[in-house]
Amino acid sequence: MKKYKVYLGSCAEYSAEKVTALINDAFEKGVFTTKPFGKVVIKPNLVMAHPKVATESFTRKEVIEGILNFVNHHNEVEKISICEKSGLGVTTSTMFRHAGYYRLQKKYPVKCCAMEERKKARIVLNRGRIHNHLTISREMADRDFLVFAPKLKSNVLSHAISGALKLNIGTIDGRERMHHHHRDLPDKIVDILEIANPDLIVTDGIRMAFGGNQMTQRGTGLGVIIIADNAVAHDMVCARLLNLEPFAVDHINNAIERGYGPDRFEDIDIIGDFEIEKSQAITSRLDLGFMPVESYKSNLKIQSGTPCCIGGCQGIFLDWLHMIRDRKPTLLKKLPVLTVLIGRIDEKVSDKKILLVGDCACASNIGSYKKIIRIRGCPPSHKRIVWDMLVNFFILNPLVRPSLIIDGFVLYPFKTFKGWVVNLRFKPLWKNRSNAK
Ligand code: SF4
Repeated sequence: MKKYKVYLGSCAEYSAEKVTALINDAFEKGVFTTKPFGKVVIKPNLVMAHPKVATESFTRKEVIEGILNFVNHHNEVEKISICEKSGLGVTTSTMFRHAGYYRLQKKYPVKCCAMEERKKARIVLNRGRIHNHLTISREMADRDFLVFAPKLKSNVLSHAISGALKLNIGTIDGRERMHHHHRDLPDKIVDILEIANPDLIVTDGIRMAFGGNQMTQRGTGLGVIIIADNAVAHDMVCARLLNLEPFAVDHINNAIERGYGPDRFEDIDIIGDFEIEKSQAITSRLDLGFMPVESYKSNLKIQSGTPCCIGGCQGIFLDWLHMIRDRKPTLLKKLPVLTVLIGRIDEKVSDKKILLVGDCACASNIGSYKKIIRIRGCPPSHKRIVWDMLVNFFILNPLVRPSLIIDGFVLYPFKTFKGWVVNLRFKPLWKNRSNAK
């Protein structure tokens, strides 16, 4: 008998009732066997939600409502929290509002918890390769049952796929989030699994987002809800849905090697009324945007040196270029003519204008120049790149909007300060609460 089960349920449009019905069906078919109980945490993908520029890249409210219907139905459930930490240095509370999650608070006994404002707990890892300990929200640390609600989408920072494993980056915050967010990203993703391994995964594949920046990319109808209780098996099936080879994805391989899931696709029993081939007929026609950054067509003369960090400088700059193409394609043609170095280049480089992206590029062998801009960091954050390109080259990235600037540069520091005050008391190092399956 196959040990792992993944359920693919047809769902042509956003309907909470339909999502609940599919979860119930998956439960009856034995896709997951543990019922929600105690303190339940739902972790969505809310990296960014914005009515104009980030419309497709987050888990839709109807899917969360479908999960809430299911969870709330169980008498053993004491408390339900939706926990998230958004990306790009914007406030999670604004993203909750844009995504419509606050409306769910009026209908269900649930609380939306923005990690940067909440009490936190530090957890010791037993099997971490990058992290010895991680700081997560207190709700996440105290939970009894964890539901992941990823968005099915492509992501150029993680081998073109964002599923349940990659969702875990939004479990952590602050310096820990960008620590080793480079070529070690696969190891980092799997480290987090030790303290946030889902009991149930319900993925929004009704519309998938593809081909661009992880926040601003556009979407297409796929019509599927994916349900599982093992993150590795789930992501292997998602890779196939996206027409990718699961074993070519580093973080999937890494998770398999560390014993978190099946090491053969044949060990996964795929259940439900949605055929993988139906998805592949759509996704095989899509460009997922995963490419070497130096091959991106624009006025920029990009040179990629060493190391090549698809989860770091190379990936983040590629993501920045995609962001422009997603929402302001005409701006691509107007980018200034300049040499961009990403990673360390040892041969001497000279040009009128040179841009160095990341600490390794800043250590390159630079010859003559008229203007040189250094964006430091390992890697620099998205926010830093967007801001530095605006200030130095007057590039008005699509995310440079008054509301987002106020949110990122005024509200966000205020919210993180609030979180700092809330956590002023001594934080003990908690014992490990590994729930590896
Ligand atoms: S600075 Fe950039 S290229 Fe260098 S290790 Fe960090 S992420 Fe990788």
